Amino acid sequence: MKILSFDNFFLEVQNIKQNNIKRKNVLKIQNATAPLPDIDLANFNRLVALDNPPARDFEGFMRQLAGKLTAFLPDDDNPLKKYRIGFYLQDRTDSSPARISSTEYRSDPADLSGTDFIVMFNREKLSKAESEDELAFILGHELSHLGWQHGSSRLHSFSSNEETACDLSSMQMMHRAGYDVTVLHHMDADAPLTEEWRMRREARQRAISEYFDFRRPVALDVSLWQQARYEEWKPDLKMPAPSMTEEEAVAVMTENLQKIYERGGEESFRRLLKDYVQTKDGAQANKFFLRLAASAVKKFPPIDEEKRNGGFRRMQRHPVSVLGNAIPVFSSLPGNKLYPPEAVSALGRYFKENPDYYRPMKIFWDKVLPPENPVMQNNRGRE
Ligand SMILES: [Zn+2]
Repeated sequence: MKILSFDNFFLEVQNIKQNNIKRKNVLKIQNATAPLPDIDLANFNRLVALDNPPARDFEGFMRQLAGKLTAFLPDDDNPLKKYRIGFYLQDRTDSSPARISSTEYRSDPADLSGTDFIVMFNREKLSKAESEDELAFILGHELSHLGWQHGSSRLHSFSSNEETACDLSSMQMMHRAGYDVTVLHHMDADAPLTEEWRMRREARQRAISEYFDFRRPVALDVSLWQQARYEEWKPDLKMPAPSMTEEEAVAVMTENLQKIYERGGEESFRRLLKDYVQTKDGAQANKFFLRLAASAVKKFPPIDEEKRNGGFRRMQRHPVSVLGNAIPVFSSLPGNKLYPPEAVSALGRYFKENPDYYRPMKIFWDKVLPPENPVMQNNRGRE
């Protein structure tokens, strides 16, 4: 099965949305011919570090804005009252100003069932916003997806198209909160020239003509997210020298994992690891990866314990989780696979001892572990 990079995957979802076809139907149709990749949402949810104070301010700012936007909604239609929602700033390569996703593992990132969600804002897009009214629109749109997906009649009364319904719902929220919906004119200026966008623009503009508001846009303090740069806490990672033995290189990378574990920065590590293994052929790279994983399971606390003690974010920074999230990189490497047996059995033992982690990550780990790995054998019963 081909693993698309996450960025490609989201571009693909974006294209699907722009083609104005119901997203879920398309995903089904595509599944029939070319299977969609399994998406590791722990990786997709690559967030700015929560322990970064500017990011916390950003979170607080967005939460407050969400509070203003939803204040008029009855409790049973109010996403802030019904769900737990986090707000994060990301550096993303796609063109959406924001996305909403479940925080739980989902093979389809568009699946918004459940109760815990994150809204991820695109830093570059946000830096172009000129008023708080624009942010209010973007946020209101994302929150509205929850209403749509959970069957809110308010949402479904706006339009039969999810994106349009979320636009109109957001405009209603803005208007009720005292924001200026006419900023949509400005925001529409660089919308894509697709049929879906034509429809959305028309629906928005019809709605604007129904509202009557002379308020000026609220001036925007952009310093919050301009300062919240993750470069500030990018860990100082070391690239193993080409002359190093495999053992030495594993030691250098394990030290890098230690830094991630302490302070975050999984994405930087993933990039570094990718750059490093690309200097090797597929078999060597796989071998290196498995040795590194085996070294990590020896050195760090069991990941199940970590989840119980430290929660989701801490678990994400755990080396086993960081390496698990790097697996799509490895799956795309050409070459024969080599599995040093001692590394494989160390991992097999580890996963038996950490079934909570292994269960949802099984499809990923089993891609790099050989079919006869001990975990699989155990699953077939009889020991
Ligand atoms: Zn949307």
